[in-house]
Amino acid sequence: MPTLRFHAVKETFNRKPVHIEENERRSAIFGQNVFNEDTMRQYLTKEAFKSVMDAIQNGSKIDRVVADHISTGMKEWAISKGATHYTHWFQPLTGATAEKHDAFFEPIGNGRAIEKFGGGQLVQQEPDASSFPNGGIRNTFEARGYTAWDPTSPAFIYGTTLCIPTVFVSYTGEALDFKTPLLRALQAVDQAAVAVCKYFDKNVKKVNASLGWEQEYFLIDSSLAASRPDIVLTGRTLLGHSPAKGQQLDDHYFGTIPNRAMAYMRDLETECMLLGIPVKTRHNEVAPNQFELAPVYDEANLAVDHNSLLMDVMDKIAARHNFKVLFHEKPFAGVNGSGKHNNWSLSTNTGVNLLSPGKTPMSNLQFLTFFINTIKAVYDNEELLRAAIASASNDHRLGANEAPPAIISVFIGEQLTRTLNELENVTNGKLSPEEKTDLKLNVVGKIPDVLLDNTDRNRTSPFAFTGNKFEFRAVGSTANCANPMTVLNAIVAKQLIDFKTEVDALIVKEKLKKDEAVFNILREYIKTSKNILFEGNGYGEAWEKEAKKRGLSNNKTTPEALKAKVSKKAFDLYSELGIMNKVEVEARYEIEIEEYVLRIQIEGRVLGDIARNHVVPTAVKYQNVLIDNVKGLKEIYGTSFKKLAKEQLNLIEEISSHIEAINSNVTKMTNERRKANNMNDVDKKANAYCFKVKPLFDEIRYHCDKLELLVDDELWPLTKYRELLFTN
Ligand code: ADP
Ligand code: MG
Repeated sequence: MPTLRFHAVKETFNRKPVHIEENERRSAIFGQNVFNEDTMRQYLTKEAFKSVMDAIQNGSKIDRVVADHISTGMKEWAISKGATHYTHWFQPLTGATAEKHDAFFEPIGNGRAIEKFGGGQLVQQEPDASSFPNGGIRNTFEARGYTAWDPTSPAFIYGTTLCIPTVFVSYTGEALDFKTPLLRALQAVDQAAVAVCKYFDKNVKKVNASLGWEQEYFLIDSSLAASRPDIVLTGRTLLGHSPAKGQQLDDHYFGTIPNRAMAYMRDLETECMLLGIPVKTRHNEVAPNQFELAPVYDEANLAVDHNSLLMDVMDKIAARHNFKVLFHEKPFAGVNGSGKHNNWSLSTNTGVNLLSPGKTPMSNLQFLTFFINTIKAVYDNEELLRAAIASASNDHRLGANEAPPAIISVFIGEQLTRTLNELENVTNGKLSPEEKTDLKLNVVGKIPDVLLDNTDRNRTSPFAFTGNKFEFRAVGSTANCANPMTVLNAIVAKQLIDFKTEVDALIVKEKLKKDEAVFNILREYIKTSKNILFEGNGYGEAWEKEAKKRGLSNNKTTPEALKAKVSKKAFDLYSELGIMNKVEVEARYEIEIEEYVLRIQIEGRVLGDIARNHVVPTAVKYQNVLIDNVKGLKEIYGTSFKKLAKEQLNLIEEISSHIEAINSNVTKMTNERRKANNMNDVDKKANAYCFKVKPLFDEIRYHCDKLELLVDDELWPLTKYRELLFTN
């Protein structure tokens, strides 16, 4: 009997929910471990406090003397809360967060010591960066990396460590992390949006991008997860037959959360409260043991940090509850995958959500301006958006037959479609007073009541307008949101800059009134970007055909999708906005394509190993049982045994044919891998892994899964889908 599987199942059956102490109200503990505004007021001098607030609100620099004051206050606060170490916390391109802890403690001679943390240590630090991926930048520039404080995301205490959010850049200034380009893109969209807002309201000084992510994940018992080498090494199951009962009954979605999972969530939420992550909703997702966690939205940079931190916290708390969190986009074949919807909007310092319809015709024209410009930006850059969410794991959702598809389209709902249709008929050039009145009363003026009706949301659209925000749904559950957020904010920034230029030109050259000029440009945008609007069912062949006719891209795999990242258009966009130079963009491409190769390579190795060393030997063992049985029948019944042993004989042959298919396909795959590994060109290598190696996974899996159905359950060594998904 395969001991590991049954041992794990037994252990899981005996588990009890971990007891959670919750003594205080959540509002009382919220942000307790964050160096937030209140705490800063308490621990900083007036001057230091003002300086930090100015840096947060206006991006101003903090001088060295003030930095010393800030670090002293921060240290006092951290030590009072039991922290012994500090670290610069950053997001290298590996996808995880990185930290290198240093103690506050410092010997000062004569056997004495003090706690020290100076401004220099707050502002800049040099981690040993040689082992973080940098896509050739290091070789090109012989650069070392350093981390630098990002005052816009507050420091926090995690465990006994003061964590200081930082950017990670090379000494020659190239970004080596996710945060640097994001901050630059947010600055670009701020400036561009403020300039456009001035048409409508002169008081607007700053525009912030908001992000509200929704994190989906699976929660699997840690012993069960540990019993599967594929889950341990790749984060997903590489084989396994789907259980008789899947999600067909739809009884998990919004159903009662199982007790152990509930204890985990409460524990997790408490930790989130302490860390100032405003998590608010939790519920079951479509698949068994699949859940979702979402916070109240926040300024995009902070929300990105919160999500990265959350993923780390989720792992750590899961260990306490004997769970393993699976963030993978498709941990189980045939079962709903996981995503991370990115809800996005823009809001002004005057408290207006630019993507929320207002109460007056003028504020609605402002809404339509931002709404239509976003649609145009997505249309013009759909391939770049697709590239921003490409990864080996997300290919299982986007490229496969699951919503959302690899084709980027925008859903806006029936009523806004009607509004755009009417705006498309606006007269070219000057508008008559009657037309203006009509537009204001009957088109622009009608939007507020319209949107209350936005309930028939299309769940299959990759990019949907949901009343007061756009929801980028194609983002994968493992993703760092910085990547899609950088692209989205960058393309909208660029679009708004172009819009402003065009409107100004009409005002100056054609002597149009401001609103006439705005109407004229919006009309053209509606006409030119129509092809991106799609209200129908977002996946399947019909839409693929239609999308092709419309000229939309359909890049199903990561190697195909990533190409857009290194297009001239992308280089121009990023350099024009000062977000990244060509070297930085190319470096990112290289890192991602290499990561893709690595992931598929590891999966290939693990699959080959499981197929040959677990599945085939088990099948042989069972086949021997059958052979013994047949031999016994022959001994007892003589020549008439054949009738009695008919089924067994069939099974013996069937098992042999599957074993043969597995072995030959594993050999084929190994050969293809070897060929791919010998390629020097990383693009060719990625293509080989994508189109030569990976397709063999399905072949191998097919025969392994067939054997799972044939072989005696007692002999099967791999924990089955029903055990992974239905024990909790
Ligand atoms: P669902 O998509 O599951 O139906 P909701 O539409 O209620 O859920 O909201 C999903 C997420 O959208 C939440 O995390 C919320 O914080 C976020 N959100 C709401 N309004 C905005 C906004 N203006 N900008 C960005 N995110 C927002
Ligand atoms: Mg959503």
